[in-house]
Amino acid sequence: MIFKVEQDTCVGCGACESTCPEVFEVIDDKSQVKLNPVPKEFQSPALSAEDGCPVLAISHQE
Ligand code: SF4
Repeated sequence: MIFKVEQDTCVGCGACESTCPEVFEVIDDKSQVKLNPVPKEFQSPALSAEDGCPVLAISHQE
């Protein structure tokens, strides 16, 4: 599963990093995906982070 953060949309709130710090890290007010493809054990929290993004900046592909 590949995750992507739309850099122009991300507002750097940090919610994704709080939910799944193994995958997301906010650097200079923009979230970066640290692990791609995302290993199975982190897919569920990464999807939760996607659901929790207030500006829908996170997307994924199988
Ligand atoms: S939750 Fe969304 S807006 Fe907030 S840092 Fe993560 S990607 Fe950016």
